[in-house]
Amino acid sequence: MLMEKNERIRNKGRETRNKRKAQVAKSFEIKLDKSKISKERMDNLERLFLEGKWFTNYMISKGITDLVPYRDYKVNKVNVKVKDKFEERELRLLSSQMKQYIIKRLQNNVKALHELGKKGKKVGKIKYIKSLHSIFLMQYGNTYTLDMKKRTLHIQGLGDFKVIGLEQIPNACDITTANLIERNGDYFLHVTVYAPKEEKVHNRKVIGIDLGVKDQITFSNGIKVKYSVEMPKRVKKLYKVLSRSQYNEETKERSKRGQKVLAKINKEFAHENNQKKDINNKIAHYVAMNYEFVAYQNDPIKEWQRFFGRRIYQTSIGGFRDTLKRKVSTPLEVGRFAKTTGICMYCGYLLHLNLSERVFRCPSCGHVQDRDVSAAYATKYEGLSLRNVGETLVDDDASTSSMLEYLKSVPHVKASIADEARSPEQADVAQEAPSVRVG
Ligand SMILES: [Zn+2]
Repeated sequence: MLMEKNERIRNKGRETRNKRKAQVAKSFEIKLDKSKISKERMDNLERLFLEGKWFTNYMISKGITDLVPYRDYKVNKVNVKVKDKFEERELRLLSSQMKQYIIKRLQNNVKALHELGKKGKKVGKIKYIKSLHSIFLMQYGNTYTLDMKKRTLHIQGLGDFKVIGLEQIPNACDITTANLIERNGDYFLHVTVYAPKEEKVHNRKVIGIDLGVKDQITFSNGIKVKYSVEMPKRVKKLYKVLSRSQYNEETKERSKRGQKVLAKINKEFAHENNQKKDINNKIAHYVAMNYEFVAYQNDPIKEWQRFFGRRIYQTSIGGFRDTLKRKVSTPLEVGRFAKTTGICMYCGYLLHLNLSERVFRCPSCGHVQDRDVSAAYATKYEGLSLRNVGETLVDDDASTSSMLEYLKSVPHVKASIADEARSPEQADVAQEAPSVRVG
């Protein structure tokens, strides 16, 4: 009997491993909808994290070793330090699986500390925690379940919770583990799923990208994209309130009111970050789905950040580049020191452009082009030269206009076509125009 069971588990494991090869792991954030959850349920949720904290500190007080007696998973009462004395608290919501994972995490932390110690770093002991912000839900279908129709999350022992964002999870996928997260008083579920690998595009189309401070993204087809998610005015107000709140230098603690305001500020930042991530994803996805080869320069965005600070911060173009790298079929990364600005696309003349010069005028052949478009164009050719790509398709007006249309539909994004490049003859006319007077 036992032999049979072991055999079955082994086969199942092999089956899963083979299946995973054709899948990619993705993670999604689902938000618990506070407005549709009863006070009692919310209290339970809060209590769950509190119990998690009590149990964590209880384990730390016992000392963490590799071997944790099985009975620790079953502990249902712990002593909690309240001011100077200990009081007994009941663990009525924290399941043994949750406890098991808390122990595992502590063991990993201890191991990591040992490793650091071996490398000669000075390491302290594991410290007691003031609050716990995540609880691992190990088994889908057991510890937790999602109901796509009712839009609910069921947590073992805690009941059903209305959630927002389930539609992100693809239909044909395997849902596995999840993390229940508490962030500034809101609750989220980070679900890991295995979905079929997306087919990558093979259409021989190529595009070059220039990343910048003024216009964040410029494409070699002439499309320019600007986006910035502005901090709402109320954040400034919140900062004012925060600066007036009490801060105790000795205990390093803020007043209750200060803590509340800080939580609100963090929430605003989290929201802003999500918006930016969403924009990055949408643009990168479009590019990846429509162009097989994508060339971009490995610019030192971190250094730009030091120079331009806030503006880069608001757009996180570094995030865009990382997303792009991940999604594109064949990324063509051009080294950061390769020259891509100030190259004439007609005659190859090299010109030094100051950052303030937004238009490239070729002194040799008179070609005039938007500085960033010219850079995206040079990046595209530099990228193609790095690899033996062979014959590629040229860009057509139809794909440029559908791209423009798509980008315009993304919230917070301003997309436009840079002034069309002028051929040398047209440029002459344009430059001379003001001085020509007709009769
Ligand atoms: Zn030229």
